Amino acid sequence: MIDIKHQLNHLQRSIIDAAQQCARDPANIRLIAVSKTRSIIEIQQAISAGQRDFGENYIQEAVEKIQTIDNQKLCWHFIGPIQANKTKAIAENFDWVHSVDRLKIAERLNNQRPLQLPPLNICLQVNISGESSKSGVAPDDVLALATHLKSLKKLNLRGLMTIPQATFDKSKQQKQFNRMRILFDQCRMEGLQLDSLSMGMSSDYPAAIAEGATMIRIGTAIFGPRT
Ligand SMILES: *Cc1c(COP(=O)(O)O)cnc(C)c1O
Repeated sequence: MIDIKHQLNHLQRSIIDAAQQCARDPANIRLIAVSKTRSIIEIQQAISAGQRDFGENYIQEAVEKIQTIDNQKLCWHFIGPIQANKTKAIAENFDWVHSVDRLKIAERLNNQRPLQLPPLNICLQVNISGESSKSGVAPDDVLALATHLKSLKKLNLRGLMTIPQATFDKSKQQKQFNRMRILFDQCRMEGLQLDSLSMGMSSDYPAAIAEGATMIRIGTAIFGPRT
């Protein structure tokens, strides 16, 4: 059995190493434990080891876990593809959504966010590799969509997210993350107050950290391979 606490400690040291190599403060890199397909027991082990941020992809599975664990100290991030008929459950149960890629979904999340809750934190998912199979807004359309979101009062646009084309080639990883960083900087120069760049998974997070990731989404390196 995987020792989740040990994996988390090991990962945290590795994040600190990656940050130091590019002279960044590791405190500016938030680790999201991607707990899709993992049991409540596995999630509880990560919580015992001090983990607070969790990412989920499948809404029904996620809502069951969030409501069963029922821990106010946790921060839940929705990172999966969003169907319009699932937006209400997302708006009611999550703190962050990283995978918004069209206005219709943003409007529904805004309208369905309960008034007593703070605005929902949003990242726009960008299709940085241009693969037709990938969801995400095209880089050229990010600024327009981001500007539209400003008028949605129950959403708080925080930044950009990407899932790059998978490759073990470190320079190709870095190139894609670098394009995200440039896009992020352009949005900020246009006056959007963004502070979050969500990129990097188990196989490529050091490259993402080198290009300015502020949130990394890690599953396998914490919980082991998914079955
Ligand atoms: C599953 C998933 C991850 C985590 O991937 P690992 O390779 O297991 O670290 C990160 N981001 C998204 C959007 C995912 O769907």
